[in-house]
Amino acid sequence: MPSPQGVVLDRDYDVLVIGSGAAGLSAAISAADSGATVLICESEQVVGGSSRLSGGHFYAAGTSVQEKVGTYDDTPDDMYEHYMTLNQWMVDPRVVRKYCDLSGPTFEWLMNLGVEFLPEGVYPSGVSSIPRGHQPTGGGQEVINILEGHRSHKGIDIVLDARVTELIVDSENRIQGVSIGKDKAFCGAVVIATGGFGANEKLLQSHYPKSQVVGDWSWYIGAKGARGDGLLLGEAVGGSIDGRDRGLLLVTPGFSQDLEVLFPSWLILVNKEGRRFASESSPYTVLGGLIESQGGSAYAIFDETARINAKPNSSSQAYWVSDVLEKKAEEGFIKRANNIETLAKDIGLEPKALRGTIENYNKDADLGRDSHFFKEGALTKITTPPFYGVEVKPAIICWTGAGLRIDEKANVIDKAEKPIPGLFAAGETVGNLHGDRYVGGGGSFGPAIVFGKIAGEQAASFATSRND
Ligand SMILES: Cc1cc2nc3c(=O)[nH]c(=O)nc-3n(C[C@H](O)[C@H](O)[C@H](O)COP(=O)(O)OP(=O)(O)OC[C@H]3O[C@@H](n4cnc5c(N)ncnc54)[C@H](O)[C@@H]3O)c2cc1C
Repeated sequence: MPSPQGVVLDRDYDVLVIGSGAAGLSAAISAADSGATVLICESEQVVGGSSRLSGGHFYAAGTSVQEKVGTYDDTPDDMYEHYMTLNQWMVDPRVVRKYCDLSGPTFEWLMNLGVEFLPEGVYPSGVSSIPRGHQPTGGGQEVINILEGHRSHKGIDIVLDARVTELIVDSENRIQGVSIGKDKAFCGAVVIATGGFGANEKLLQSHYPKSQVVGDWSWYIGAKGARGDGLLLGEAVGGSIDGRDRGLLLVTPGFSQDLEVLFPSWLILVNKEGRRFASESSPYTVLGGLIESQGGSAYAIFDETARINAKPNSSSQAYWVSDVLEKKAEEGFIKRANNIETLAKDIGLEPKALRGTIENYNKDADLGRDSHFFKEGALTKITTPPFYGVEVKPAIICWTGAGLRIDEKANVIDKAEKPIPGLFAAGETVGNLHGDRYVGGGGSFGPAIVFGKIAGEQAASFATSRND
């Protein structure tokens, strides 16, 4: 079969992996290590998908790096309990359990492949107090480079610019291969690892409507190959879908289309009634949800002293800086007024409420502690005119949650609760692992690799047993 690149695929494969992100490359490597012949089809001209753009953080329990930093006692059981509680048990326990159990061993597998995780990169990600976030040296880009190096070294074939458009099944719905436009490739098993659907507006409307409430504010930060193809390919052969309206939205004033994760500590956030409703230092994993529950938007309030002194203290705050704030105020994007009451009226808040909120906050700032919301970091008094207010919304789509239902062996489950023979899925295309609250940094990349590896092993075993 001539590939879209002109490469002639003159043979069948045991396992065909759709997508070359963290999940797809892990699946391909583990399938090859299990003795299967493997082909990866990648729709874009570069490997790596959103995984390459990501921080590559890996959320795991019981790792050797945790041990080095003194977290000797973290276990998969503790991780499971935290994960389930955070999501009020509204996730699929068998899939979560498998992720928690294999997060440590799979993390070690990745390190053995050459990915470096230093002790200083271990941190309590998300809402957890236990350091389970692991930051790799070189981020997602380096993880992909290393996995891609193993792919090449192991002689695993890949075709780029090869968008899979259909799964081929026999009369008993057993997987036989895939179509890439007019071309076909045959195989014993398929792993769908096509990532999320943040780049597909239609699917966002139908499967993540919450992300579209903010209208034009919404934008997707991931790779353009994230069109939800896996979800549609799986659904077309009877796969069932879970995780509707789940995902991760980061909060932004919309200054620019750049990643913003944290708010500077010198501002306060108030709701439409003019009162604070959360700590401004709340983890990014929950802040979007907190603002959603306040009607979908909030206002960041600060004063002239804060504006003048505003400097970026991390790359994710690069736009909360003095000259940008001045420019945005001149443009009218940020409202500016000489007293709090006028500012409140200009942005549609109750003046007395905003004044009372600021007075209480200033008293706490004098005492050096946030007695109401326990905000971390320095509290900066809001006293010097002019005063500023700007609307912020959970609008940056970082990751999408709806997708194919799998079991603990990464089999895609059909609507009759049975595995579709020969069809496996891993990564962001899976819909029954994540709940309403993103667990924390590494909570998507980690399971992409865990289930990628499982899917590769299972697909290899399924396909090679068909050859017997
Ligand atoms: C900026 C950013 C930072 C992030 N940081 C983190 C982090 O630090 N930790 C964390 O846990 N999560 C993070 N995430 C989320 C995480 O990176 C992703 O959820 C995860 O990497 C997805 O991996 P994947 O292999 O499932 O998909 P991807 O990496 O997106 O790979 C899917 C691949 O499939 C290809 N494809 C799609 N359709 C087809 C088709 N029909 N045929 C062939 N190929 C196809 C795509 O082109 C793509 O290359 C971040 C996301 C972004 C955008």
